[in-house]
Amino acid sequence: MKVERSYAQELDQQDPLRHMRQEFYVSDDQIYFDGNSLGLLSKRAELAVQDMLDAWKQYAIDGWSEGEHPWFYVSERLGDMSASLIGAKSGEVIVTGSTTTNLHQLLATFFKPEGKKTKVLADELNFPSDIYALKSQLQLRGLDRDEHLVRVKSKDGNNLDTEDIIKAMTDDIALIVLPGVLYRSGQVLDMETLTKAAHDRDILIGFDLCHSIGSIPHELSAWGVDFAFWCTYKHLNGGPGSVGGLYVNEKHFGKEPGLAGWFSSSKEKQFDMEHTLTPAPDVGAYQIGSPHILSAAPLLGSLQIFAEIGMTKIREKSLRLTQYLMELIDAELKDFGFHIANPRNDDERGGHIFLEHPEAARICKALKAEGVVPDFRNPNGIRLAPVALYNTFEEVWRMVQILKTVMDQKHYEKYENKRSVIA
Ligand SMILES: *Cc1c(COP(=O)(O)O)cnc(C)c1O
Repeated sequence: MKVERSYAQELDQQDPLRHMRQEFYVSDDQIYFDGNSLGLLSKRAELAVQDMLDAWKQYAIDGWSEGEHPWFYVSERLGDMSASLIGAKSGEVIVTGSTTTNLHQLLATFFKPEGKKTKVLADELNFPSDIYALKSQLQLRGLDRDEHLVRVKSKDGNNLDTEDIIKAMTDDIALIVLPGVLYRSGQVLDMETLTKAAHDRDILIGFDLCHSIGSIPHELSAWGVDFAFWCTYKHLNGGPGSVGGLYVNEKHFGKEPGLAGWFSSSKEKQFDMEHTLTPAPDVGAYQIGSPHILSAAPLLGSLQIFAEIGMTKIREKSLRLTQYLMELIDAELKDFGFHIANPRNDDERGGHIFLEHPEAARICKALKAEGVVPDFRNPNGIRLAPVALYNTFEEVWRMVQILKTVMDQKHYEKYENKRSVIA
C-alpha cells in the first residue's frame, strides 16, 4: 500500500541515489524541503572553501596564477563545469555576478530598441527582481516603463500557456525574458517551442534558470536560446549569495558587453592596462570586475557532484519524489482544503510542489515548529521541494503525516496567519 511507511522505505532502498545523502550536512531531526531556496552544504563544497582559504594563506597575490584553482581562471573553470547542466558548449557559460546583475548585463548588451521593435516581453508571474531590472533598463533608455514592458497574463494565477506567450510575441517586441521554471507553481516552460516561435518573429529570447538549473535538464545550445542567467544557491547548493551564472549562445560572440569592465577583457590583453577594451572572444566578455572567489569556491565542490551523477538521474528521482508527494497529499489530506497548484504532468512539473491554502502562512509556521522546513509564498502558497540529492521518500511520507496532524489538530491556529520578514 502506497500510504504505508514501509512502501516509502522500499522506494528508498531501490533509490540509486540514496548514497548521496551522506555527501551533505542534512539533519535527521529535521525534514528540509527548502533546497529550492537555499540548497544544503555538501562536504565537498566545504572542502573547496577550505582549500581556497588555504590557497590565499599559502600564495597571497600569487594565488591568481598558482595553486590548484588559479583565481584568474576560476569563473571560466566553473562555467565549463556548469555547461552540461544546461546543454551549452564550452565558452558559452561563465560563473559571475548574480541573477539580477547578470540580467542587467544581458539587457544592456542585447536590448536594442530600434524602429518598431521597442518593447520587452515578460510574464505577470515573474520574480520581482527580474521585473525591476527590466523596468530600470527601459527607464535608462528613456522608454515608458508601463508601455514598453508587456507581461503575459496567467489564466489561473499560477501557470502560463505556451499559446498565450506566443500570441504576445507581436512585431513591436524586441526581446523576451521568461523563467525556465516558475518560482511559485514550479511550472516548466517549453523553452524549445518558445525559442523557435521567438526566432520566427525575429525576437531575441533569454531565460531565468534560477529554479531550473540543477533541477531539470536543458539543451540551450541545441534550442538556440540567445541568453540565460541564474543563481547557484538554490538547486546547485553553492551557499548563501554564491556567484551566479550567465550563458550566451556562441552566435552572439563578439557582441560588445553593454556593461564593460576590465574582466570583460581577453585574458591575454587584460594586464596590458590599455584604455581601449579588447573583449574576450566568448562569454567571458560579459564579466565586469574581479571574481568573488570566496563565494565561487563552494561551487568547485558542489558542481563535482552534478558532474558525477548527471541531470538524467537527478530528474528521474526528483519526478518520483514529487509524484509520490502528490499521491500522498491526494490520499491523506483531501479533507483539509488544500489545492495542488503546480502542473501534475511530468513534462511541466519542476522540482517542487506548490500547495495553496488560505491559512498557508500559519500552516508553514506550524510545520516549522514540528521540524519540517517548507517555504511560504505570499499570499497563500506552500512550496515543498524534496531534493533528489539529499531527501528521501520516507521524509516525504513523514512530512505528509506531520501536515495531517497539524491540520487535524489545528496546530496552526496557535500562529498568526501572516508572513515573517523573510518568507
Ligand atoms: C532566486 C531568484 C532570483 C534572485 O536573484 P538574485 O540576484 O540572485 O538575488 C531572481 N529571479 C528568480 C526567478 C529567482 O528564483
